[in-house]
This record gives sequence, C-alpha cells and structure tokens, in this order.
Amino acid sequence: MNDPIDDPIEFSRRLIDGEVPIGDHHPVLPRGESSFHELAPGIGWVDSFANVVALEHGGELLLVDAGGFIHAGQVHRLLRRWTSAPVRTAVYTHGHVDHVGGVPLFEAEDANGAVEVVAHERVTDRFDRYRRTAGYNGVINQRQFGLAAPLFPTEFRYPDTTYRRDLDLEVGGLRVELHHDRGETDDHTWVWVPERRLLCTGDLMIWVAPNCGNPQKAQRYPAEWAAALRRMAGLGAELLCPGHGPPIAGAERIERVLTTAAAYLESLVEQTLELMNAGARLDECVHTVRPPAELAELPWLQPLYDEPEFVVRNLWRLYGGWWDGNPATLKPAPEAHLAGELAELAGGAGVLARRAAALAADGDLRLAGHLAELAALAAPDDPEVREVRAGVFGARREAESSLMARGVFGWAERESTAGPEGPEGPG
Ligand SMILES: [Zn+2]
Repeated sequence: MNDPIDDPIEFSRRLIDGEVPIGDHHPVLPRGESSFHELAPGIGWVDSFANVVALEHGGELLLVDAGGFIHAGQVHRLLRRWTSAPVRTAVYTHGHVDHVGGVPLFEAEDANGAVEVVAHERVTDRFDRYRRTAGYNGVINQRQFGLAAPLFPTEFRYPDTTYRRDLDLEVGGLRVELHHDRGETDDHTWVWVPERRLLCTGDLMIWVAPNCGNPQKAQRYPAEWAAALRRMAGLGAELLCPGHGPPIAGAERIERVLTTAAAYLESLVEQTLELMNAGARLDECVHTVRPPAELAELPWLQPLYDEPEFVVRNLWRLYGGWWDGNPATLKPAPEAHLAGELAELAGGAGVLARRAAALAADGDLRLAGHLAELAALAAPDDPEVREVRAGVFGARREAESSLMARGVFGWAERESTAGPEGPEGPG
C-alpha cells in the first residue's frame, strides 16, 4: 500500500473502509518528521503530531492551528516551501500546547506583518492556568509520554481576538466560519469553509476513541462533544481535516465517522447517568459501562490514546463530585497506614507481594496491582517488594492498549526499578 506520507486521503479511505488495520498506524503518536500535502488547490495540510491546515485565498493565508511547541519549526519550514503568502490570521482550535506553538515564527518574517490570532475566549484562561500549573503539566507529559524529564512551555502567544459562540472571518474574500463547542476542552473551535466544503474539527476528531477521559487533565465534556459531532456531520463536508491523523474525503465517509463517534459518546453518557441516577457508586459505573460492541470495533474508535473507562470517571466528576460513593474513602486513613495494617494482618509485606505476583501470573492484573501497591506502601524499600511492583506494573503496561494507561503503569514500573529513568517511546 501507499505510505501514508504519499497520499494521506487514500490512506484514510483504506483505514475507514477496513483495508488496513489502524493499529499499524496509530495516528496520534508523536512522529519525528512532519510532511506537507496540498489536499486541494489552496488547501495545504501539514501532517505533524498535531496537524496544521493552511488556507490560501486572494493572496492571503489563514492557518488552522499553528504546530506544537516542539514541531513548530518543521511546520513553518514546510508551509514556507509551499507559499510565501502572508499569514493574516491564525485560528487556534483550542489551547493545547501541541496546537499553538508556531505563530511567532511567522510573525518574525520580514514584511509579512503581524498575525491576528483568533480563538475561543477560554483559550486565554487556559494559558493563564498553564502558567500556574506548568510543573504539574510537565510531570503529566513526562508520565503520559514516557519522557526523560518534565516538558512543558511557559510562554504562549495569546489570542488577539476571541469570541464566545460563533464568528465569521474572511481570508482574501473567502468566508470562514468558526464555531464553539465544548468537547475535549472547554475552549474548542471547529472551522467550516462553506465554499470549499472544508471542515477542520480540531481535536473533536482524532482517529481514536475520543480523548474525553484523560486521567490527569481538567474536565472534559462528552455529551457536548457528541452534539458537536452531530452538528458537523450535518454540514455535508467533502473534506475533513482532523486535529490528529489523516484527512478524510467524501461526504458519506465523513458523516459516518462523525455520527458513529457521536453515538459512542452518547452511549457512555446515557449508561453512566442511568447508574448515577439509580444511586450507584463510581465503582459500579466503572465496571459496568461499556461502549456498544459494534462501535467499539470501528477503526477510528480504538482506545489507543484515551479509553472509555476513563470517560466514565470523567462523567462522574462532571455530573457528580470527586467522592466515589464509598464511605471509607470520604475521609480515608493515609494510604501507607492502611497498607501497613493489611501487611501486618497478612504476615508481612512480602506475603502481599508474593500474592500479587501469583495473581499477575494468573492474569488478574487489576487485583495484582492493588496488592503490589499495598506491599510497596507498607515496605517501600524492600527489594523483593520493589521487584514485584515493577513486574506487576510492567505487565499492566504491556497488557494495555491506551497510551494513557501505558504511561501511568510504565511510570510506576520505573519508580520501582533501580537506576535512572531513561527516555522511552510512548508506545
Ligand atoms: Zn491535539
């Protein structure tokens, strides 16, 4: 088959039509090299970790997203090989740092003048929050992506123009519509160019199960995300450029991808609310709610980045509170005290650790994880306990499909192995 770099639209057709497995081409993992493609006359697309769309019309350029703080230089170089038209406007689909890094590079060019950055009004709040929580976000990235050290920017190119609900822009006389919906974030914009039938979804479509439950990040909005997908599905778009992963061509294919993702989220929302309304605990929700099987098997809804179990927890936080319904966890003892007590009852932390290893060997990794962690909390320096904990969470990492679960379990594994942490790919 063609390399995805050669023909991204043909590549996406094959993925959607089931001709190539999505697992071989995880579209939201960081890649070393970005590449440029002109998808249609005047519609440039940079395939990067987070994609960038460049719309050239009437001698002007509009960017939808601007490259991440790591990839911005590549994005800038690739776009400038395509056109020297001045960037008048850059739209941020949201404020995640993989989407908002490149504007200063275009602004630094001679004679092109300033870029007007347009975004939803809450992007500004997000950047303020990022500056206050840079350390935490650096650690998240380190854990989530298996990096050698914390990594997060502290300087941001803030928007010049913000809007609340909808906003029309022009690029060289061509009308460009911005629309706000909450979904992955509270500051999301999707872009619709009616004359070109072009839809830029931002991260409302990223070729994997919606990133709507991320365990380490701020609140997400599954029901509103689904509503946004249905709004976009009704437009009759002929070309869809997602925030991550290859572009999709063809109205029917686009509608199918968007409506199935909407139905997937709607089902998780309805199932979780039904249990919450019946008085269930979080534990019951987490272990009961499942995405519909016929949707869960679709290539563009695989849990390779986030996963539905985390969406359930995110819904609990959204509609309920932080308490999980278990009275023991409302005002708990320190974890290490509980662990010490249980270790003593069991006959020592080593007994807990050995039982953890046995459970892991039998394939009950969830239970093994609890016992390994209890053993480590009770006897953090015990070499046998450390070895078991590393082994159990290493096995958990191996057994998971989502980058987020693998990141957290890999982190625990490395905590318990001797030697300095080395960089590790996010796979
Ligand atoms: Zn993104």
